[in-house]
Amino acid sequence: MSAPENADPRGLKRFAAAKTFQLARAKAGLAGLTYPREYGGAGLSRAHERVWRDTYAQYPNMSTEYIISHGMCLPMLAEYGTHEQKLKYLPDIISGHSLWCQMFSEPGAGSDVASLQTKAEKDGDTWIINGQKVWTTLAHLSQYGLIIARTNPNVAKHAGISMFIMPMDAPGVEVRPIHQIDGGTHFNEVFFKDVEIGAEHLLGDLSNGWNMATAMLMYERVAIGTGTSDGVRHELADQLIAEATKRGLIKDLVLRQKLMHIYTLETCLSLVSMRTRAELKAGKTPGPGGSITKLVNAIIWAAYRDLSMEIVGASGLAWEDESAARWQRGALTSLQSGIAGGTNEIQRNIIGDRVLGLPRDISVDKGIPFKDLKVGTQQTPA
Ligand SMILES: Cc1cc2nc3c(=O)[nH]c(=O)nc-3n(C[C@H](O)[C@H](O)[C@H](O)COP(=O)(O)OP(=O)(O)OC[C@H]3O[C@@H](n4cnc5c(N)ncnc54)[C@H](O)[C@@H]3O)c2cc1C
Repeated sequence: MSAPENADPRGLKRFAAAKTFQLARAKAGLAGLTYPREYGGAGLSRAHERVWRDTYAQYPNMSTEYIISHGMCLPMLAEYGTHEQKLKYLPDIISGHSLWCQMFSEPGAGSDVASLQTKAEKDGDTWIINGQKVWTTLAHLSQYGLIIARTNPNVAKHAGISMFIMPMDAPGVEVRPIHQIDGGTHFNEVFFKDVEIGAEHLLGDLSNGWNMATAMLMYERVAIGTGTSDGVRHELADQLIAEATKRGLIKDLVLRQKLMHIYTLETCLSLVSMRTRAELKAGKTPGPGGSITKLVNAIIWAAYRDLSMEIVGASGLAWEDESAARWQRGALTSLQSGIAGGTNEIQRNIIGDRVLGLPRDISVDKGIPFKDLKVGTQQTPA
């Protein structure tokens, strides 16, 4: 049996709705609450943001499409951008006029993203970019992306990387859709062929790209793991409880035990997320602890997938119409939560060595210039 037609495979309708909401939010002075007015924010305090999150949590989430733009690119621009870059880019990203994507992963450089091969070469005042990115969420809808590229192959792989602001309409940028298991095409491959960008597109210091990429991944893990709303939440357990009740299964003792397990995990995740947000509120940049919420979020989604299929039974296989396909699509989509933003194994490694202080993985390429590496995606020199 084949999957039902996906009514909105490129996410155009969802994005249009999200953008309308975001523009209205900006018009009401409620976008970018904690960012300075000078850069298009509302200039309010973290306490105001908390009130917003509490209130917003009571309504359907309209901000999913902006999670990369607002949860990752915006804090990076605010932290590392020059005054001129902030004046130029922040107002539009905050208001939702422009959407931004993240261009880190490459074929062969995902978990080990420091092995990336996309290169940026300086020619006078211009950077020339060549290479390929993959799994770029919403690149087809984005006006800009933050890209990491190799600017110096003569030093160790982590040391020769820089971050740039990439206009997605620059000549030589080509975005191609990737077809997903759930019928959607929200991902893309992005190709760069002799793409020229001015020197003012460098974000942060030259060769500081790895530190910045790590900071951005921490923002990503916090954004994915802690969500957009505050308070104690257990939405997935609530959905499953409602479905089990509707199907007359709620008195099943074993099922109740499994439902309580998800309910408890979600409750604990909310509490840890509140702690993470309190740290952010105190001005702390997200640290490796963000991997904990990211990992637990993926564990919850896996449990949700298995339990949802158990509850809906045979109808979990049937593709009747778009509304009935909700559970199947949810099960298929859930697979991404243990991969996006770094796999579960990578989160466990980070928690092991950077949170718990356990010994690090053996590194075979430490200190070796990238051009001499025979590991990762680097080709053996001819
Ligand atoms: C929904 C979704 C959205 C995404 N959006 C973006 C995006 O917008 N921009 C972007 O740049 N990327 C994006 N990605 C890519 C994502 O970051 C990578 O898929 C992820 O980092 C894993 O890299 P990989 O796919 O190359 O797998 P690999 O790195 O090849 O990993 C393959 C397997 O090996 C395991 N593994 C690898 N190294 C280790 C290790 N050291 N120890 C233990 N196990 C290891 C992994 O856990 C995994 O199981 C997205 C991915 C998904 C699923």
